[in-house]
Amino acid sequence: MFKHIVILTGAGISAESGIPVFRSETGLWEQERVEDVATYEGFLRNKTKVHDFYNKMRQSIKSKEPNPAHLALTRLEQEYPISHKNATVTVVTQNIDDLHEKAGTKNVIHMHGELNSILCEKCGSRYRYFENSSVDSVCTHCHSKSLRPDIVWFGEMPYHMGKIELELSRCDLFLSIGTSGVVYPAAGFCEIAKSAGAKCVEFNLEKSVVGSRFDKGIYGKASQTLPQFVNSLICDEIEV
Ligand code: NAD
Ligand code: ZN
Repeated sequence: MFKHIVILTGAGISAESGIPVFRSETGLWEQERVEDVATYEGFLRNKTKVHDFYNKMRQSIKSKEPNPAHLALTRLEQEYPISHKNATVTVVTQNIDDLHEKAGTKNVIHMHGELNSILCEKCGSRYRYFENSSVDSVCTHCHSKSLRPDIVWFGEMPYHMGKIELELSRCDLFLSIGTSGVVYPAAGFCEIAKSAGAKCVEFNLEKSVVGSRFDKGIYGKASQTLPQFVNSLICDEIEV
């Protein structure tokens, strides 16, 4: 039986809820260059464009609903610690959407920031934000016009790395769900978990570029594979 479970989720878990993955042909990401909308240099070049890009995304997730994969993780978080005394379940997500929260999962670490949050460059405040932002938006705390999307862009340090590394270093089961395994440091989490002695399982449509590092791969749509896996985990019927 597992005591400490860490779950890393990526864009793939939200794909079936209608939020396009990073490298899809239909998503907002495909219409812009990553250097323009996901780097600080891109923001400095054209702040209005970057605000608008994330405004569109912030508006578009309002109507999106969690799918059975998000709900399965909520069930795991709620039920596993009841049947397994002192067990912990931690969800670390690279996603900037709010579908884990909408599904009711409580212990979620957003390592790449959140669409529903804003960051003030002047005073460093981060707070909940659901409107459209622009170069003229005023910080609620310091009243300066220095807001930026609260998203960790390429080249920036992800949030909560200390807490994440602590959880990984004591986990005995690590699940990676719907992530391509090319964006670091998240792509290296399997190695940290493995050196802590954890069993590692990958869920994806097909084996990812880092798939061979995992003890087991479960391939197919996460909305179909994950609920079954979570059920077996809660009932102690899992062999990794
Ligand atoms: P990615 O787009 O690079 O990879 C998605 C992975 O999910 C792929 O390996 C794909 O095969 C897999 N996948 C697709 N549909 C799936 C399904 N139904 N079930 C299981 N797996 C499925 O995503 P990434 O690795 O998370 O990295 C992209 C970066 O872009 C992240 O850092 C994230 O911040 C950002 N992003 C976030 C969102 C979001 O918040 N929903 C969406 C797009 C991009
Ligand atoms: Zn401020």
